[in-house]
Order: sequence, then C-alpha cells, then structure tokens
Amino acid sequence: MKQIHQRLRMDTERLNRADDERARRFSARGAAAGLWRGLARLGGAALDLALPPQCLACASPVASNGGLCLACWGGMRLIERPYCERLGTPFPADFGPGLVSPRALASPPAWGRARAAARFEGPARELVHRLKYADGLHLAGPMGALMARAGHELLGPDALLVPVPLHRGRMWRRRFNQSALLARQVAKISGAALELQAIERIKATRPQVGLTAAQRAANLQGAFRLSARGRALVPGRRIVLVDDVMTTGATLDRLARLLRRAGAAEVDALTFALVVNDA
Ligand SMILES: [Zn+2]
Repeated sequence: MKQIHQRLRMDTERLNRADDERARRFSARGAAAGLWRGLARLGGAALDLALPPQCLACASPVASNGGLCLACWGGMRLIERPYCERLGTPFPADFGPGLVSPRALASPPAWGRARAAARFEGPARELVHRLKYADGLHLAGPMGALMARAGHELLGPDALLVPVPLHRGRMWRRRFNQSALLARQVAKISGAALELQAIERIKATRPQVGLTAAQRAANLQGAFRLSARGRALVPGRRIVLVDDVMTTGATLDRLARLLRRAGAAEVDALTFALVVNDA
C-alpha cells in the first residue's frame, strides 16, 4: 500500500515536472515571439525613417511626413463661406450672412447645421478612400484637423461627438470604423466629448449610392437604434454626428431624427468631405 502511494507520488511529481518544463518552453517561445514582434516593430519604424516622406494623398515625395504635396493641396477644394447654413453646401457667390439654400428650404434636414472640410473630389476623395480601405490610420490626424477647423462653430466642450456606427460585420472585416477614428481626432483637437457607443447599427445596409430617395429610406428603415448608454446620455445634449463623407445626407438625417426623438437639445453634422452637385 505504502509502495503504491509512493509510486503515485513519484508519478505525480514527474508529471508536474513535465508540465513545468512544457510551461517553461511555451513561455520561452512566447517571449521569443514577443521579442520578434518588437524587432519587427523596430524594423518597421526604421523603415519608416529610411523612406522619404510621401504625400498622404498621392504618395509623391514631399519635404516632411504627414502632409500633402503642393499639387494635392492645390487640388483640394476646401469648403469656406459663403455656404448654406443648414447643408454646408458652398454658394457660388456671397448673398449675405445666414443664408439657407433653396434645397434646405424645400426639404429641411433633421440636423441643425452641417459642415464639411472639403468637396468630395480629387485629393479629398483619395484621402477618404485611403482612410477606409487602405491602411490609412495615420490619415485620421490631418483629416480630423481639417474637420475641427471646418466645424469649429459646432464644437467646444459642451458638444458630444457621435460617429456614425458601422455594422458589426463590416467592423469585423475592416477592423476599424473610419468615422470613429475621425471623431477621436476632432475630440482631441476641440476638447469636445466623444461617445462611441450611443448608437447601434442593427442592420447591414446596402451602399446608398445610386438609390432613389424612397429606396434610401427603405434601406435605412430599422438600421439604427439608440443603445441603453445612448438613451441615458443624449437627452438635453448638443450632439455632433461625425462621418467621413456626406453624400445625400440620408444616413445623417436618419440619425439626427433618432437623436432628436431621444431628446437631444441640438443635432449638427460634421464630415470630412461633402458631395457637392454644382448643377
Ligand atoms: Zn500629392
């Protein structure tokens, strides 16, 4: 009996030692992997330093990192006053302060004021595509800075920035929400508060491009809802919706409606780019 016990104990100790050894080997491998990742990062940083600085939009060589080349700056059509106070669409001439476009009068948006940094064309369009589909995380800084400038009237410490959410499936494929990246930068620069969880996208919608107004409305039907956090935060707050591009404004309009119904004091919209139809 005693012998059996002793043998059992020895077996157990041997097994424990084997486990320890395995654990040691495993953690050594883990440490090696960590070291490798660290070196890869260092290598990446060294590579970044070795590469000549590139224009963020067209990748042609420039004097310093994080900017645009002269051609791209020249091609960027920043939106300045005079513009429609409701839609942010530029006017061809100055008709006096506080003017609202015929389009905004004919079908007023659910938001109060929309502002955008640039027309969605040329280098601005390139930046939007790079941010969304390429590894353009470093673009969010300069793009957010232009947005903070364009939307300074909407910002300030009492504003709550709410980015347009992505559907979970799309978020999973793309790994990040470009609107949230931009909103984070605008918050950092302006001191406005940021809330990423206020609205949930509960339906994966089709792209709105090429849809009629009725199709867009049907597409967005039931796509968004306020989270429990959103229902608690929104009442009485001044909200600024943030997105990368405003095309027809249907999505922002739907969200503004949702936020107003939930008791938001004001809802404005800020995007990097705006599709301007000059016709
Ligand atoms: Zn360029």
